[in-house]
Amino acid sequence: MKLYAPEYYKDFACIADKCRHSCCIGWEIDVDGGTVKMYESLKGEYAAAIRESIEPGEPPHFRLSEGDRCPHLNKDGLCRIILAYGEDALCDICREHPRFYNDTPHGREVGLGMSCEEACRLILSSDGYANIIEIGDTDGECADGFDPLPFRTALYAILADRTVPYPDRLEKIGAAHGVSLSVHTDAEWRETLASLEYLDDAHRAQFQTYSSDPATPEEIEKPLERALAYFICRHCTGADSSEEFRAALGLSLFLERLLASLAKETPERLAEHARIVSEEIEYCEDNTDELKYAFWF
Ligand code: SF4
Repeated sequence: MKLYAPEYYKDFACIADKCRHSCCIGWEIDVDGGTVKMYESLKGEYAAAIRESIEPGEPPHFRLSEGDRCPHLNKDGLCRIILAYGEDALCDICREHPRFYNDTPHGREVGLGMSCEEACRLILSSDGYANIIEIGDTDGECADGFDPLPFRTALYAILADRTVPYPDRLEKIGAAHGVSLSVHTDAEWRETLASLEYLDDAHRAQFQTYSSDPATPEEIEKPLERALAYFICRHCTGADSSEEFRAALGLSLFLERLLASLAKETPERLAEHARIVSEEIEYCEDNTDELKYAFWF
């Protein structure tokens, strides 16, 4: 089937040693079975160190070093496995990060997750979010049944119309699918946010700044628009029913306002806030499910 991606996807390249928030720090990295087997037969100086670094288990994973660093991350921020054996020697998770996939009746879409510093920079600076282009073929079957793409196209048309004030565009997008953040009061949303799982507990307190107030400083309107396009792309594209699409749209609108609330006082830190929202919420299915639940009705 065909593989599609947002226009900015082709500009992505990991910035490796220039990355201040490397994905090789703070996460436990699972090693898939095929890669474990490949490492078992690997020859060369560094092969034994790779094998010894794997903690057996379900699934096996790299044993983290001090500071929760991947044991293969060198002091210059480069991956020793790549340096010794090239990118082909990476496990699936490392090769794929920060990509995510959604299957639709038209093919598969690949996107870039905003928790990655470089992906975040591209997402917040690219206006071509509505241009989803064919980038090749991939194995697999197209999804059947519900087709979310016409709905997404219609939402992007509303979002991209900068002749309409930004808060009005947000309202029109919600109204198109009967979604409103007012299903909860702001205090109730803050309670929900406090109950979520966090990688860094300091973010639990930071997220208490949440407000649904649609007023937005003009200087961050465009990056917020692009962030919302990304949230819609990530969460609505794989919907297999209109109910799922609506809940995913509710989540997307909520994440946009959470980001706006965090950036209101510190707009110069918008990209950092976006990266944190993504890593704390989007990368935890329990958290996204909890927030989407509010929009099932
Ligand atoms: S977070 Fe992104 S840019 Fe940074 S090391 Fe990981 S893939 Fe590369």
